[in-house]
Amino acid sequence: MRCPLCQHENSRVLESRSAESGKSIRRRRECLSCQHRFTTYERIEFVPITVVKRDCKRESFDKSKLLRGIVRSFEKTAVSATQLEILVDEIEAELQGRSLREVTSAEIGEMVLNKLVDISEVAYIRFASVYRKFQGIRDFVDTLDHLQNQKINHHIDSAIVQDEEDSGILEQPDYPDWETPASCATSS
Ligand SMILES: [Zn+2]
Repeated sequence: MRCPLCQHENSRVLESRSAESGKSIRRRRECLSCQHRFTTYERIEFVPITVVKRDCKRESFDKSKLLRGIVRSFEKTAVSATQLEILVDEIEAELQGRSLREVTSAEIGEMVLNKLVDISEVAYIRFASVYRKFQGIRDFVDTLDHLQNQKINHHIDSAIVQDEEDSGILEQPDYPDWETPASCATSS
């Protein structure tokens, strides 16, 4: 970091402290040449991520929108709001770490699903019931096979998720033929 006064390239750090609620580090520096003191901030670089929806519309990845989109899938499950926030934070971090700047909504659905395996089987199936709308029965059957747990059958009927609201990236207006309308029309 060049000294703003003399342009010397080297400085020493006098003090480092967390700033902006932990989102940055503030460093007090002293130029090794002229002893001028100045302050720098170090931040994580956030790059914009574009979500490509199934209808090919593009929109910026919005963490709070993803959270709103999935939160209904987790009502009355063992998954807490805090766990959901952590899950969404992790997904954002993974997206930030990728070299690709675009992600499909289906990919995000997979990411959510993969994280749910260790959190809650009920939530996993609930989310899969949303997810299958754009993946088809084959993947849902694979999902069930993957879990292979008897408890699942008790929860499928109550796990159907309605999505009359705009559920963010998960919105999928078309139901597959095999899905019974009754399970979609009722609101809980
Ligand atoms: Zn200087």
